[in-house]
Amino acid sequence: MSSNNTWRPATKLIHSGVTRSQFGETSEALYLTQGYLYDSAEAAEARFKGEEEGYIYSRYGNPTVSMFEERMCAMEGAEDARATASGMAAVHSAIACQAKAGDHIVAAKALFGSCRWVVEKLMPQYGVEFTLVDGKDMNAWKEAVRPNTTIFFLESPTNPTLELVDIKAVADLAHENDAVLIVDNVFATPLYQSPIELGADIVMYSTTKHIDGQGRCLGGIVLGTEEWINDHLHDYFRHTGPSMSPFNAWNFLKGLETLPIRVAHQTASAGKIANSLAKQNTINRMIYPGHESHPQAELAAKQMSGGSTMVAFELDGGKSSAFKFINALETVQISNNLGDAKSLITHPATTTHKNLSNEDRDELGISSGMIRLSVGLEDVDDLLEDIQKALHSI
Ligand SMILES: *Cc1c(COP(=O)(O)O)cnc(C)c1O
Repeated sequence: MSSNNTWRPATKLIHSGVTRSQFGETSEALYLTQGYLYDSAEAAEARFKGEEEGYIYSRYGNPTVSMFEERMCAMEGAEDARATASGMAAVHSAIACQAKAGDHIVAAKALFGSCRWVVEKLMPQYGVEFTLVDGKDMNAWKEAVRPNTTIFFLESPTNPTLELVDIKAVADLAHENDAVLIVDNVFATPLYQSPIELGADIVMYSTTKHIDGQGRCLGGIVLGTEEWINDHLHDYFRHTGPSMSPFNAWNFLKGLETLPIRVAHQTASAGKIANSLAKQNTINRMIYPGHESHPQAELAAKQMSGGSTMVAFELDGGKSSAFKFINALETVQISNNLGDAKSLITHPATTTHKNLSNEDRDELGISSGMIRLSVGLEDVDDLLEDIQKALHSI
């Protein structure tokens, strides 16, 4: 297997983790197999005992999936990883594999909808308590800590309001309290933010988003130390089966090769769109982590090395203006997905965040006029013209 710690990110994303078969294929092989053969009954026994290296069953591990895990570890600076069937399988596994009845989770309020459901609705069924805090407010994190706090969980930048949480400060607080910090790094991508370097213990992704990048496969990954994975995730993963399909892993390996050029292009376009939106007087608020108007521009510069492929903004006139604007777009398509080659737009209050109470939405700043745009790979001038035309129609 190839790896080289001195490689820069774009090189790692192409060459790290490759294990070639006897045929010396250039492109990673797709091992679409459930099981593996043994030369003898003794060999099978040895492998089950862990005395002989090798695969046993694809729920536990698969060569194509391993290549993807290795490449992600090289990129994140993580010791070990497990790839999962979806981003939510990654979040759920990362939390459920270690939380016990009587434990307490402190999480930022601004979480991806399903992540919030896991913390707020599912984990309490197993006796795990939680406190949700305003992620921007370090005092709120501190005040939420209890003697039984074992997990801190956050997402930064957040969906859809693109707020940041100080990852290093929360990691320090978690460690002072013998707890671990789990970071959902989907919006930042592996290119713009390295949570492990900032002190996080566990990082997870929905690889469905930028890592696939072309809207095809669902997937996720949990990365952490060998010790944490051996103590918590290893057995949980084997026996509950949230494994990634080898076909999807193969697709994500290809996605990682082009991740830097796609994300750079999408970020440059998002920056231009953000600049243009910031000048419109029909827009109340434009939120973009790479823009000087972002309230946490200083923190963005401290912990992120790039802006975002996402832009959020709020139109005057609430839901009816937002719907008119969205319906008038021709190039940008309506979808709740993100990170795709196609530019996608969504109205969070009625879709991704419809399950929150009005109060919770207000608290998170998700107003009825708010719109979230995931910028794709189209020519940015076509996107700018489409947006201008749609703004004029309201
Ligand atoms: C999409 C997403 C998830 C869930 O991932 P799936 O692959 O859809 O299961 C989790 N967190 C964030 C921030 C996401 O954008």
